[in-house]
Amino acid sequence: MKAAATFGKKTIRDVDVAGKRVFLRADLNVPIDDGRITDDTRIRASLPTIVHLLERDAIVILASHLGRPKGKVSDALRLKPVADRLSQLLGRPVRMTGDALGPGVQVAVDKLRPGDLLMLENLRFHAAEEDNDATFAESLAGLADIYVNDAFGSAHRAHASTEGITHHLPAVAGLLLEREVTALSKLLHRPPRPFHTVIGGAKVSGKLEVLEALLSRCQAILVGGGMANTFLAAKGMELGKSLVEDEQLANAERIMAEARRKRVRLMLPSDVVIAPQIHHRAQKRVVRVTEVPKDQMVVDIGPDTVTAYTEHLAKARTIFWNGPMGVFEIGSFAEGTNAIARFIAGRTADGVITIVGGGDSVAAVEKLHLARKMTHVSTGGGASLEFVEGKTLPGVEALLDADAPLPAAGDAA
Ligand code: ADP
Ligand code: MG
Repeated sequence: MKAAATFGKKTIRDVDVAGKRVFLRADLNVPIDDGRITDDTRIRASLPTIVHLLERDAIVILASHLGRPKGKVSDALRLKPVADRLSQLLGRPVRMTGDALGPGVQVAVDKLRPGDLLMLENLRFHAAEEDNDATFAESLAGLADIYVNDAFGSAHRAHASTEGITHHLPAVAGLLLEREVTALSKLLHRPPRPFHTVIGGAKVSGKLEVLEALLSRCQAILVGGGMANTFLAAKGMELGKSLVEDEQLANAERIMAEARRKRVRLMLPSDVVIAPQIHHRAQKRVVRVTEVPKDQMVVDIGPDTVTAYTEHLAKARTIFWNGPMGVFEIGSFAEGTNAIARFIAGRTADGVITIVGGGDSVAAVEKLHLARKMTHVSTGGGASLEFVEGKTLPGVEALLDADAPLPAAGDAA
């Protein structure tokens, strides 16, 4: 199979799961506002693996983290709303345990029959999860015969449920994790050229490493969002009240110098949308980047920049996009982001590889209903960026290699 060739790890298709207890680590870490799920993308993305395992008569023990409870029980971060949504999507009840581990969990697991699904409470209520505590990992493993990792969004962290547990069970990939790795690998292994990246979002600081990695792989980097302000400021532009990271000016200069040396085209906005404040009723105006008044701030890229960027992107055979071009959460400041999203989506039909990664850029694409028009929209957030940087993800690394012999279920892997 073609996917397996680039993926290199065993998947659920390679193991006999009928009647076996499967510990399924998914990433069901969805945004929840006042008990309501505001975006269920990650739950829906986890469905294929869950359904596949249930249809093959596995006993599925589903585990995830939610938010950052920092090792303490937090009622606001219980997985109940996730179980409810999952239950709607599956069309069957989803039972939950009151804890991720403990005597109650064991009793509930012992009652399960082939084709049953049980969801554990938030793993991160235990500090041992993020500490990758060996005893905790072994106890989680003790619940099951086989381990499946489908939590691509958590694969860049070596936690008990993503790494430690693989030392005790045969460990294979779920379908989402396989799809993510296979799709994002297209950016690492000889992507069709020219390969152009559009990068934005709030800050340079969170994205230095990905910028550096892309400099050695892309032919052009088109910068937008708050991040562009810091580059413009490094070139001496006065940007009024705009978000500028003063402590990143030197890094921005260094990246621009490196781009020149490597002959990578680094494009910055020529015009911008400005407003006196970030507010949906704020009066906006388009100006050249050299003309931002002291009492205004940059909130989006301007129309000339959109034209210049899309004209340049039209030549690309591979496009990676991370980070919105402006404060897209406010409709009137979202025009630049939306125009870039529509343009990239339109290129897919011409055979261009179009990949979007990053929580907010993905949200922007979803909002426009353009996800289906991209080659791949990653659910990974930080994990996708680390993957694109060329880092190995501990949660992927720990899985059985595609050509490794399969230990009998229950044997230590
Ligand atoms: P992603 O999640 O796609 O990686 P980031 O988290 O880096 O993206 O950045 C997203 C945030 O950047 C959004 O909340 C957006 O409002 C903000 N942002 C974009 N442009 C600007 C700007 N000019 N000024 C302030 N914030 C901005
Ligand atoms: Mg973000």
